[in-house]
Amino acid sequence: MEKIKMKTPLVEMDGDEMTRIIWKMIKDILLEPYIDLKTEYYDLGLEYRDNTEDQVTIDSAMATKKYGVAVKCATITPNAERVKEYNLKQMWKSPNGTIRAILDGTVFRAPIIVDSIKPFVKTWKKPITIARHAYGDVYKDVEYRVEEAGKAELVFTSADGKELSRQTVHDFKGSGIILGMHNVDKSIESFARACFNYALDQKQDLWFSTKDTISKKYDHTFKDIFQEIYDNEYKDKFEAAGVEYFYTLIDDVVARIIRSEGGVVWACKNYDGDVMSDMVASAFGSLAMMTSVLVSPEGNYEFEAAHGTVQRHYYQHLKGQETSTNSMATIFAWTGALRKRGELDGIDELVSFANKLEEASKKTIEDGVMTKDLAQLSEVAEKKIVNTEDFLKEVNNRLLELL
Ligand code: NAP
Ligand code: MG
Repeated sequence: MEKIKMKTPLVEMDGDEMTRIIWKMIKDILLEPYIDLKTEYYDLGLEYRDNTEDQVTIDSAMATKKYGVAVKCATITPNAERVKEYNLKQMWKSPNGTIRAILDGTVFRAPIIVDSIKPFVKTWKKPITIARHAYGDVYKDVEYRVEEAGKAELVFTSADGKELSRQTVHDFKGSGIILGMHNVDKSIESFARACFNYALDQKQDLWFSTKDTISKKYDHTFKDIFQEIYDNEYKDKFEAAGVEYFYTLIDDVVARIIRSEGGVVWACKNYDGDVMSDMVASAFGSLAMMTSVLVSPEGNYEFEAAHGTVQRHYYQHLKGQETSTNSMATIFAWTGALRKRGELDGIDELVSFANKLEEASKKTIEDGVMTKDLAQLSEVAEKKIVNTEDFLKEVNNRLLELL
């Protein structure tokens, strides 16, 4: 069989721990035998980030702006333990945070649905996609630990030096805590457009939620910007496509989503999206079955798995023990990126290959062959629990039948 040729390189962002092991296996077993893989490689493994003072993360995001499509492996966000473990020069920031800040993108997370795994929520029949605003709020806050009595104020000074606002946050009688956070209209506007475009693309209703009744300026601004953009730019398109835009309070969406059948895009502010996407992922079965794509307003795409580096399994692997780590979400990060690259470059074989690899992966689980994490979830009668590598080989067997 002749290998599929690529035109534009994919931006390949390698990562850490167990997912780094899986990354190489996927390339070796499922991709390189079939594709003349053309990638521009960035090593986002923690060691190399430390060596380059995290410049490699910035370079990889700039390359994504240049080429348009990236695929990313899960990476360690260092904490104090990691600084010790890897003897780091400093506690580098979350690579995902850095990349999101550069691309100003929106993250869409959707579950991989297979027939034999029923969601915990009985009414859910279709995927629920969480759109997470990826800029600002508590992720770009400033915080202060108050140790004594004193006054905290919120002050705004204009660029030409005029004090336009001064409000007391709290008169402290003793110790406490404060934080200041922000967002910018430009980012909220691109978030809104990304959500409207994605919902139209997927032909799904878009729900958006904040807590504007309590946060009368901050959250209310999100609500107003969405409404204005919808009325001016999307209302007609939504009506023509037969899909709906619907705003309500976050607690109301939580109540509604549990009773819905799914098949909607739920747009969330940054923190809400962080929390709700883990809840939705668990309810659909497993974090290991959740995909994630960052879409920038300029139309750049970065595909990844929603889960982390699966540290516990990696330590088992280092001890020479067998692992049974689920590679589905990482496979789907690759297929998402290859399909997008194929669409943009007009390479039909690449699009078709990506679709077949997804089909083969789902079929493997539907046939009863799966990693340990899915064992209790799957309703297949005869289950065969396999290790990390054997799962990929089983996928490859089914892929060969489809090609
Ligand atoms: P995690 O890597 O997602 O793993 C948490 C647990 O979920 C695992 O211990 C495992 O449970 C289960 N799990 C997750 N993915 C799985 C898979 N593919 N197959 C089987 N089981 C899976 O989260 P974490 O342990 O909180 O974080 C580990 C590291 O990942 C941290 O350094 C964090 O900074 C990083 N992280 C990176 C990203 C990213 O790059 N996007 C996202 C989140 C976290 P059992 O142990 O019970 O088997
Ligand atoms: Mg989270």
